[in-house]
This record gives sequence, structure tokens and C-alpha cells, in this order.
Amino acid sequence: MDKTDVKIDALKPLFGGVREGCGPLVMAGPCSAESREQTLRTARELSETGIRVFRAGVWKPRTKPGSFEGIGVRALAWLAEVRDKTGMLPVTEIATPVHLRQALRTGVTDFWIGARTTANPFAVQEMADALASLTPEQRDRITVLVKNPVNPDLELWIGALQRLYASGVRRLGAIHRGFSAYGETFYRNRPEWSIPIELRRRVPGLPVICDPSHIGGRRDLILPLSQQALDMDFDGLIIESHCDPDSALSDSAQQVTPAQLAGILSRLSPRRCCDARGSLDIYREEIDRIDDEIVSLLARRMDVADRIGRLKQREGMPVVQPSRYNALMARRAEEGRRLGLSPDFLRKVFGAIHEESVRVQVSLDGDIGGKDN
Ligand code: PEP
Ligand code: MN
Repeated sequence: MDKTDVKIDALKPLFGGVREGCGPLVMAGPCSAESREQTLRTARELSETGIRVFRAGVWKPRTKPGSFEGIGVRALAWLAEVRDKTGMLPVTEIATPVHLRQALRTGVTDFWIGARTTANPFAVQEMADALASLTPEQRDRITVLVKNPVNPDLELWIGALQRLYASGVRRLGAIHRGFSAYGETFYRNRPEWSIPIELRRRVPGLPVICDPSHIGGRRDLILPLSQQALDMDFDGLIIESHCDPDSALSDSAQQVTPAQLAGILSRLSPRRCCDARGSLDIYREEIDRIDDEIVSLLARRMDVADRIGRLKQREGMPVVQPSRYNALMARRAEEGRRLGLSPDFLRKVFGAIHEESVRVQVSLDGDIGGKDN
């Protein structure tokens, strides 16, 4: 399938065209609306720094039961109050047709679909059916932003956008919030930038907003991730901001105060023209990110080698078992051939990795220099 198959076009501006000038659209607000006081105070402070779109979760999809799952319908009234008192547009996450109806009842008309919901075509279709059952006038006021699914599956992301588009919603956009991975990772959700870039190629004209808060999971990563997104010509940013981040009931480590957010935004360099900069820098940035991943994978591999070394030492087993080494090399050569990599290159790379792995295991015995295959 290529871009001609997607057929998402003639989109209307998000939020009825709230965006002013040509800078990125910035949406900000707490991960969750926790209390009326916290919601209104955060909104007021954000509004004073010029933010026009206010995000706040009312229903929170949490990995485990027992953590803060949002205030629910009661918090919708606080979002309506934000709109009435500050003029900001409130945006919240909806995951079911019931959420949609409850939000519309309080006059909240702008939404995002969360990453866990996007991953479920049944849930997205139910939402699309609920949107299709509204009057065209109601639907025309609604903006829906679709977060990427938790898993790195571009087709699933596009499929969700297609379902919602087919419901008649035309204020449609996407949010890139990164992709989950097993184990310790540098990012909370790996950016895999090539996926949103490919989304933009496949669905030209679709606004794509970057969510550096959920990608990085840490305050200090918001600025560099936002800059990368702007350099890649994203249309906007959605950033979590809380009047007292350390006391936040969800996602505390990644939230910043409205004043800190203003500082971050002021340090972002305005978008540079992609044509003038050329594609070369974009490729170089991609290579740098891949290299970062390679280094962190190598560190993980050596950590496992260290654990194997200790086990072999305990069991009195030899460090090097040639049959295992030969099997490993043969498998890599086979896999490499399938992916178009030269066997000679792979032999060198895996030879070096194996050599280092042996060194790590032998040095447990105090023999630092040891290496033989
Ligand atoms: C959120 O935006 O607070 C949220 C829960 O996001 P995600 O669906 O990206 O995890
Ligand atoms: Mn959050």
C-alpha cells in the first residue's frame, strides 16, 4: 500500500484554526486533571505564557490497577471552566463512546485517542461509529488527534486514522508519542522517528504533533526532543505541564511548571527551512540515533555476557565453547544475507563482539588479556 491508497485529504485546520502565525502549535497542560485548584492554576499560568490549547487527562489508561486512574466525568466541568475563564481550548483523552458523549455534554469538543486505544481496532471502530452518529454540525466542531499505537506499527496508526476519517471527522491529526520497548531504555518510549516521517509521506497534509513528554519520560529530554521534532518539520508539540510537577499524581518525572515550559519554548530555535538545510542533516541525525541504539544494545549484550561468565565460573565450565560460537556466526551470516548485509562484514562485527564478550568473561578470573576462540 502506498500513499495513494490512504485517501485522507481535504482536512480542516485543527481546533477550528487556533494556530497563529507559522510557528508550531503548542498544546500544554497536566498529564491529569487532579483537582479543580490544580487544573485552573496550571491553566491560568499557561495562559499567561501565551499557550492557547490546554491538555488534561480525565480518564487515565494505567498499566496496573490501583494507580491514579483520573477523576473522570467530574473533571470535565473543570475543563469547561478553563475554557470559560482563560479562553483556552481544552483537549482530553477519550477511549470509549461513553467518554465522547460525556465530554460533548460539557462542551468539550477536542480530543486525543491514546496509544493503547489506537492499538485496538475494535475500540477505534466503536469510536468512529459514535462520531459518525453525530450531526454533521457537531462533527465539524470536533478535533481528534490520534496517538501512535504503543507498538511500532505504522499500518495500525494509519488504519485508526482511516476509520476516524471515514466517520466524517475532518479536523484530524496525529500525535507521535514514541513506542514502548521491553527492558531498560534511554527513552520511556523510543522515538523511531522514521515512522512518523513515513506517516507524513503516506498521508500528506496530515498535521503531526510531537509529544516529547511521553517519548522522553524525563524533564531534561523535553527540550532536545522538541528541537528534533521542529527540525523534522513537525506541526506542533504537546507537552505536559503541571503547577507543581513533583506532587503530580501521574507522570511526575516528565512534567514541568508553566514557567519552565516557557523557558524551554524560548530556547527552541525556529524551524529551519528543510529545503535549504537539505536532506543530508536529516539522514545524519537518523544515523546518530541508530548509533546511540547500537551502543546501548552492546552494553546490554555485555551485561548478559558478564552474567553468563559468572554462571560458567560457578559451574566450572570453560568460557569458550567453539560449537556455540560457530552456531552463532552461522545464524548471523544467514540473517545478514537475508537483509542484504555482506557475510564478511558480519564476521568482522560479530568476531569483535564475541572477542569482547570472552574478554569480559575471562577477566572475571582476573585474566584481563585472555582471548582465544
Ligand atoms: C497522556 O497523554 O497522558 C497519555 C496517557 O498518553 P499515551 O496514550 O501516549 O500513553
Ligand atoms: Mn501522561
